[in-house]
Amino acid sequence: NLKMGILGLPNVGKSTFFNTLTKLSVSAENYPFCTIDPNEARIPVPDERFEWLCEVYKPASKVPGFLDIWDIAGLVKGAHEGQGLGNAFLSHIMAVDGLFHVCRAFEKEDVVHVEGNVDPVRDLEIISEELILKDLDRLQREIQEQETKISRAGHNASKEQRLELETLKKVKSFLEETRKPIRSGEWSNSEIEVLNRHLFLTAKPQVFLVNLSEKDYIRKKNKWLPKIKEWVDSRTGEMIIPFSADLESKLLDLESQGPELAQQYLEENKTTSALPKIIKAGYQALHLIYFFTAGEDEVKCWTIQKGTLAPQAAGTIHSDFEKGFICAEVMKYDELKEYGSESALKAAGKYRQQGKNYMVEDGDIILFKFNV
Ligand code: GDP
Repeated sequence: NLKMGILGLPNVGKSTFFNTLTKLSVSAENYPFCTIDPNEARIPVPDERFEWLCEVYKPASKVPGFLDIWDIAGLVKGAHEGQGLGNAFLSHIMAVDGLFHVCRAFEKEDVVHVEGNVDPVRDLEIISEELILKDLDRLQREIQEQETKISRAGHNASKEQRLELETLKKVKSFLEETRKPIRSGEWSNSEIEVLNRHLFLTAKPQVFLVNLSEKDYIRKKNKWLPKIKEWVDSRTGEMIIPFSADLESKLLDLESQGPELAQQYLEENKTTSALPKIIKAGYQALHLIYFFTAGEDEVKCWTIQKGTLAPQAAGTIHSDFEKGFICAEVMKYDELKEYGSESALKAAGKYRQQGKNYMVEDGDIILFKFNV
């Protein structure tokens, strides 16, 4: 399972954020395949298409898509005192596939900032630089290893080995010269293959979460936001989502006292929770999509990587579906909604049979036909 981790300096709101996620996390009783781990949250992806399908099919069982999020800070509690991130923290970043990068743009006197004052752009810079240094360290070592291998092999050194070495050297100079993350560079397909084998820290996608005071979040204003945007745009142009860990945590407390209380609070303050947007963004950062299977028994989201072909998508349901794949019968969500029912959609000729080269799209509703 691909997963997001939470990255950021101490005292920026990572645990507060993770705790709210844990409360949203599905309980293991409902989904027997979920393991509970205090440092892992499995969050249902909010999706109105899924809600609508459940209304229409009224299935006995409903399974949404999930995003897995790891609390890296919780895993290495106490390991990163003082400046920067520490090695334990960095090694946990190796294990995730993408990162929510939390920075702090709220002032609060009794919450000390490790760097002395609030300055999220400086914080982002500190962490980015640290990740770049870590990647450079590794590149240095791996380039040496590769050179040794090639010199031992002499004339027998393969083309692949040389390409690997060249690519590693190119990536290293890119980092040294630009001081920008690997994912902001332009790489050829063969270079991307090398990068996919190495999984460098600055190659992992990030979603930037700016933790604001409740007041700033509600009025949608904070002096750091334009500066953060400028900084992110000058590097990767990735998504920036303002939120307030304080507000989110308050909302969940209210909800536990009464489901309508949170809604009331949001209406009174003319605001909304940022969590749905954050979860969707994490899912997208990992290049995940899902298709639906829908019937009276079950409406279910099946997670696949963007670009997956129909037989492999069928394989996520059962390996026999992939082996005996005949075709995929596909309904497009928008069309199903427009015509209102499967039979109306069929009558309109919009029910499509797709073969083994069909690339499954996000939100497709699929019935697979296969030989047993
Ligand atoms: P971590 O070290 O990054 O995990 O940070 P914590 O989640 O432990 O937060 C550090 C402190 O900041 C705690 O006292 C939180 O209550 C406080 N805090 C977190 N988010 C917010 C926020 O959005 N607004 C305000 N005012 N305080 C916050």
